[in-house]
Amino acid sequence: MNFDEIKNLYDNYVIANYGRLPFAITKGKGSKIWDSTGKEYLDMFPGWAVSGIGHCHDKVVNAICDQAKELIHIDNSFYNEKQAVLGKMLSERSFGGKFFFCNSGAEANEAALKLSRLHTAKNKYKIISFEGGFHGRTMGAVTATAQPKYHKGFLPLVPGFIYLPFNDIDALKAAFDDEVCAVIVEPIQGEGGVRPATPEFLATIRELCDANEALVIWDEVQTGMGRTGKWFGYQHYDIVPDIMSLAKTLGGGISIGAIGVRAEVAASLVPGTHASTFGGNPLACAASIATIEAIEEEKLIENTIKMGQYTMEKLAELQTRHSCIKEVRGKGLMLGIILDRPGADIVAACWTKGVRINCTQNTVIRFMPPMVVTAQEIDAAVGILDAVMTEMSI
Ligand SMILES: *Cc1c(COP(=O)(O)O)cnc(C)c1O
Repeated sequence: MNFDEIKNLYDNYVIANYGRLPFAITKGKGSKIWDSTGKEYLDMFPGWAVSGIGHCHDKVVNAICDQAKELIHIDNSFYNEKQAVLGKMLSERSFGGKFFFCNSGAEANEAALKLSRLHTAKNKYKIISFEGGFHGRTMGAVTATAQPKYHKGFLPLVPGFIYLPFNDIDALKAAFDDEVCAVIVEPIQGEGGVRPATPEFLATIRELCDANEALVIWDEVQTGMGRTGKWFGYQHYDIVPDIMSLAKTLGGGISIGAIGVRAEVAASLVPGTHASTFGGNPLACAASIATIEAIEEEKLIENTIKMGQYTMEKLAELQTRHSCIKEVRGKGLMLGIILDRPGADIVAACWTKGVRINCTQNTVIRFMPPMVVTAQEIDAAVGILDAVMTEMSI
């Protein structure tokens, strides 16, 4: 089908709840995608970080094909080897906890929020989250997302949530009481504009939760699986969460979400409390196992650190020549270019020249190439961003 035929079907049969670019993508490999006319693009924001180790990674493709011939889905009435192995692999690379599997980031956060109320004392129900955070679109996750634009039209939200300014230790101390059951935080706010939490802020959350027998939830849906230069964002700090939520890169492109939970807390999630029909099926778990193996065998975390530093240097140099860039920040390959103006025109012009990037919070360009990216690909992408800014004289 050509683009117009595809678009026509969408207009008639697919709900128009996304602002879509007028292109159909038909193929992807590594850092590259191709549209239905055959035009090639460098994808510096692959699948909103889902294709975090690049599109159609060979190891993931092979694992999916092999698993699909054996067993695609089996429900959680049974044991399945792939889920067991994935749990072990994730536990050994994080804080030694146990895992529950679901299908998306929002679902992982739902599980984390439910478990927090379930595990803590009867009087505890309040959940603290932070302005600018993003936790997903289901009712619980969107309630945790302290951004009014995501709430419009959906009131009343889930009761018991408290919103506080990000990185504000005094506000946190003032709001905390013994009815709090959990604090949910992203180590680096992604959708919120690539804003890192300060170490002091995260340490204060940990201290207050410990003192009040509340749980610390780190939403690592975007920061997890190596993106920041460590397996998980919490590993940059000397702080361990009680629960971390994962999704996006976790499945190498296949939908899978998870929470990793400290064993003592995990014991509260007994039969009947929570479940997911699709969660942890063999196909998704096989893809996730292959993703972890690829990250290790191909040293993709090392590459993320190296390429992250390289990109930072290139972007810092760009900043000296383009006054529209106020700041460049982030960790590993989770980078934000903070502009003094809206970034939509820049993103559109880059796309026309064959580079995909993203703009969030109106003025923050997200530059999050796949962990397999090469220096040449970064040179090409940053070169086009440079050319676009030069043409715009900004
Ligand atoms: C993308 C994202 C989510 C939501 O994930 P979905 O799979 O879209 O439900 C939650 N938290 C963070 C930090 C995210 O980046």
